[in-house]
Amino acid sequence: MEEITYEEIEKEIEDLYKKIEYLYGKANTKSKQRRLFSTICALDKICSEDCLDLNIVSSHLIKKLYMESKFFDYYDDVNYNLEILKELSLVVINTFKDINYPFYKNYKSRDYVPDSDKNNLIYTYFNSFNDQIIDKFIKKAGDNYYLEFSSDLAFEGALYNLPIFKKYIIHLNTANDQNLFYVISAIHEMGHAYEKEIFYGNGEVNLLDMYKETFFYEVSSSFFEYTFINFLNENNYYPKEIKYEYNLFYLELLKNAFKTYSICLNGIDEVNNSYYIKLDNKDKMEEVEKLKEALNYYEKLPNYNDKLSILDSVIYFVGGLLAINLYNKYKDNPKEFMKKFRTFLVNYPRSGVFDSLEVVGITKEELLSSKVLKKELNKFINSSYIKR
Ligand SMILES: [Zn+2]
Repeated sequence: MEEITYEEIEKEIEDLYKKIEYLYGKANTKSKQRRLFSTICALDKICSEDCLDLNIVSSHLIKKLYMESKFFDYYDDVNYNLEILKELSLVVINTFKDINYPFYKNYKSRDYVPDSDKNNLIYTYFNSFNDQIIDKFIKKAGDNYYLEFSSDLAFEGALYNLPIFKKYIIHLNTANDQNLFYVISAIHEMGHAYEKEIFYGNGEVNLLDMYKETFFYEVSSSFFEYTFINFLNENNYYPKEIKYEYNLFYLELLKNAFKTYSICLNGIDEVNNSYYIKLDNKDKMEEVEKLKEALNYYEKLPNYNDKLSILDSVIYFVGGLLAINLYNKYKDNPKEFMKKFRTFLVNYPRSGVFDSLEVVGITKEELLSSKVLKKELNKFINSSYIKR
C-alpha cells in the first residue's frame, strides 16, 4: 500500500470541512444544521489532539457557531443552583468523614485483562440491560467498539459523535489497556453515546447542544460506569481489582466534591465568564483547609490560589454522586428504572435543575440526607468484597 503523508490527510480533512460548511449553508432545517455542526465539532476535537500531530486550522463555521452558542448559559445554571451545590458537596465531604473512610488502605492489586475479555465484558454487561437502545447501538458497533490512537492522552477517554456518518468514535488512553480501568473508560464513553442515541431516537437532536449546558452532563456516563463496577463485583469478575476500582470511583467523587465546594464558596464572577475560577479568597479557603484536616486527607484536593475548571468540577461531582444514587434505584427494579431513566435523559436539558430527578424517584432531600452514599460507602468498607 502506498504511504499516505500528513499533508495529504490534512488536505482531505480541510476539504471535508469545506464540504460540511457548504452543506450547512444549504441545510434548510435546524436539525440538519445541528447534525452537521456536531460532526464538524467532533472532527475539530479529533484534529486538535496533540498525538495526531495534524496542523489544521479550525473551521470558520466552528468559530462562528461557538461565538453564537449559548454555552455560557451553563454558568447561569450553576449560579442559579449555587446554594444546593454547596450544600450537597459539603454533605458528601462530611459523609466521608462520618464513616471514617479508610483513605490509606492499599488497594493496589491490579488484574491483567486480555483483549478477548474486554469486548466480552462489554457485551455481557450491556446485554444484561435488555434495553432496546443498547441493543441498537451494540448492533451498530459490531466488533469495532473503539479506536485507539495514542498512549499519551491527558484524559482517559472521549466520545466523538459523527452523526452525518452515523458513527461514534470512542478514543481511549492506551496507557491503561492492560487493565480493567480501560474497559471501565469504554463503558463510561458508551454511557455518553446512550444518551445521544436517546436524543436521536426521540427526534430531539436539538437537545444535543443544550444538554452540554447543564451540570448533568456526566450523569449517564457515570451511571453506566458505576453500575458496571457493581456488575463485575456481583458476577465475581476480576475480584482482585474490584476494590481498587470502587476506591478510585469514591475518591474521584470526594475530590470533585471538594472542588465544587471551593468553587461555590469563592463564588462565580458573573461578569468575567470563563472556563476557570481562581480560588483566591483566603478566608474561604481556610474553611476548605479545615475540612481537609478533619479528614486527614489531602491528595489532589484544591488549594488556595489554584485555578479550577468550573465545568469539569461540577459535572463530575454531580455525575458521581447521582451515579451512586441512580444505581440504587436501578438495582431495585432494573426494567422499570431504565424506562424512567430514559424519560429523565430526555427532560433534564430543558430544566437544568435537580427537580428533574423526580421522575427517577430521587429528591433533593434524599440527596442531602446522604442516606444512599453512606450505605454504599459503609458496604464498601465493611465487606470483604469478593462477593457481597
Ligand atoms: Zn464523561
